[in-house]
Amino acid sequence: MAELFDSHAHLDDEKFQGDLPAVLERARNAGVTRVVTIATTGSSSAACIGLAERYTMLAATVGIQPNNIAQEPADAWDQVVSLVTHPKVVAVGETGLDRHWDYTPFAQQEDYFARHLELARRHHLAVVIHCREAEADVVRMLKEDFERHGPVRGLMHSFTGDLATAQACLAMGLYISFAGMVTYKNAQNLRAVAAQVPLERMLVETDSPYLAPVPVRGQRNEPAHVVHTAACLGGVLRVAIETFSQQTTQNARTLFGLR
Ligand SMILES: [Zn+2]
Repeated sequence: MAELFDSHAHLDDEKFQGDLPAVLERARNAGVTRVVTIATTGSSSAACIGLAERYTMLAATVGIQPNNIAQEPADAWDQVVSLVTHPKVVAVGETGLDRHWDYTPFAQQEDYFARHLELARRHHLAVVIHCREAEADVVRMLKEDFERHGPVRGLMHSFTGDLATAQACLAMGLYISFAGMVTYKNAQNLRAVAAQVPLERMLVETDSPYLAPVPVRGQRNEPAHVVHTAACLGGVLRVAIETFSQQTTQNARTLFGLR
């Protein structure tokens, strides 16, 4: 069985509190050998590191999701900065911009996105980028970073943008990661974009516990379900599932600096 790598899951979410060992066992049985558990707050950064210390198949990120910034305690950013050098940390994020929700003023989201980009650069880590209804702003800020410092080591998580956005991100060195939404019946446009992304620059993820792919749509999502998204994308790219799994796993290892 080909190995799969779930590049984005929120395993510190309370929905996994009762049965995480069983969830990880099902992932291993489905061929998933690695999962990056993604932080969304200062305390979630510490929790993700704790999980990665306990379970060898996990790696962690540290960061504050844009929608959470406004409600974080004053020392949350300092906590992220102090945790970034932990050996289980393979990326900074998730960070980015979100115009769908209005929980954090947009200027504050931009401030924190810039901080995350700078922190990732300083520690030679990947950056995990969330973008919802803010493609033009995300590309603008990435371009500023790219023009000043060169290629951006990172990924566009749960990508749902158009082809021009994907191409702009690829040109700056980023990887494009697809989640369960690409499997949805009405997602023809997103599949058409995925068909134009080189396999060498593609990642696959669950975003567990959210956005379960077809045929488990509506259920709690978990890393084992990444096989459905991988099968869909293999079909879109017209490559065998083994080829798709092997290459996207290699991509993730390269990006996150994992063997
Ligand atoms: Zn996420």
